[in-house]
Amino acid sequence: MTWADRYLGAAVIGLMLLLFPAPSYAQSLEVSAARVGIRSPDTLRLVLESNSALKPTISYLSTPDRIVIDLPRLDFSFGPGITDGKRFIETYRYGAFSPKVSRLVIDLSKPARVTRSFTLKPSGKTVVYRTVFDISIVPRARFTEEVARTKGQLIDPQSRRVEPVLSAAARNGEKPVIVIDAGHGGNDPGTIGINGRAEKEIVLAVALKLRASLQRTGQFTPVLTRDHDIYVGLKRRVEIARANEADLMLSLHADSIGDKNFRGGTIYTLSEKASDSVAANLAARENKSDILVGMDLEQENAFVRDILITLAQRETKNFSVKFANILISEMGQQRLIPRRPHRYAGFVVLKAPDVPSVLVEMGYMSNAQDAMRLASKQGQDAVVRDLTDAVTEYFAQLQLN
Ligand SMILES: [Zn+2]
Repeated sequence: MTWADRYLGAAVIGLMLLLFPAPSYAQSLEVSAARVGIRSPDTLRLVLESNSALKPTISYLSTPDRIVIDLPRLDFSFGPGITDGKRFIETYRYGAFSPKVSRLVIDLSKPARVTRSFTLKPSGKTVVYRTVFDISIVPRARFTEEVARTKGQLIDPQSRRVEPVLSAAARNGEKPVIVIDAGHGGNDPGTIGINGRAEKEIVLAVALKLRASLQRTGQFTPVLTRDHDIYVGLKRRVEIARANEADLMLSLHADSIGDKNFRGGTIYTLSEKASDSVAANLAARENKSDILVGMDLEQENAFVRDILITLAQRETKNFSVKFANILISEMGQQRLIPRRPHRYAGFVVLKAPDVPSVLVEMGYMSNAQDAMRLASKQGQDAVVRDLTDAVTEYFAQLQLN
């Protein structure tokens, strides 16, 4: 089924809903459980349980090898992503991928494909629908064929504009536009903290508070790259900043790090050469975000290659560094890492050539104190205050020049 077919299908369903409104007890579509079992040495069976029939679209991606299962937008209600490491399925993860699509991504350690897929309706004591996927190891050449065959059906989120973030109305005369970029989202949870809280949820909470705080000053027009739990590609985040002619982009994160004692805020600006190994590892991991959610990376890589460090970009970098320094002085010692709170690395999300951009690691979810601080109202409010003060100070200084 092509995307157009599906779109038409959705339109027909929409029309039917208008003519035949759903009874008030109608439930939203929900997947309540997922299981992986062993069928044979070469075949695993994935079963999804849902309250209604699912119509999956199965696609394949390589480097790394993944199976992508696209479903209509639904709720996954079975807790965080499951890692069972059984045989050739390394992990799988799921979440909202776009306004109309939910996605489950299976990471493979060997090339494999769905050889059989069917749905069992509720019967007897079973009250749920079960969608079954038998996944078997296949030769590399066969897997490559599947990747090529299904390329067209992978929905490219970049091609469909998410409305609220790009509205021209957001651009409001003289007020500087501040793009607030909550990292991760949808089927990319970011890191999971020592307290079980997902990075995507913490950064979104802070982003929403920061928007309200900047609005209250009356001096800025804040724009979010996402305002709910949805995946947004890295390239798309940069595009949103550029399309809004942003005067500043703040990308918010709260990652994990091997050293559990490492805590405090860190401010990153762009550099092709990382300032240290912590910065390099973090950027490498962040830049993989698109792999996690099942994006085709060919286009993304071309985009990254195309970005040259031009004179304009150097100028932009100077402003980024200026803002970083102001933010560091606003945050003060107790909310920053003890040494070198300003670091450099090649984060894709910082690569808009004409938008000063910083990436703020608000703290480290691998540290017990930071994880608690960032999950608390007080801790989030403190970060929002620091950021609001730094933005105000930065633009006040620019006006003096
Ligand atoms: Zn992150």
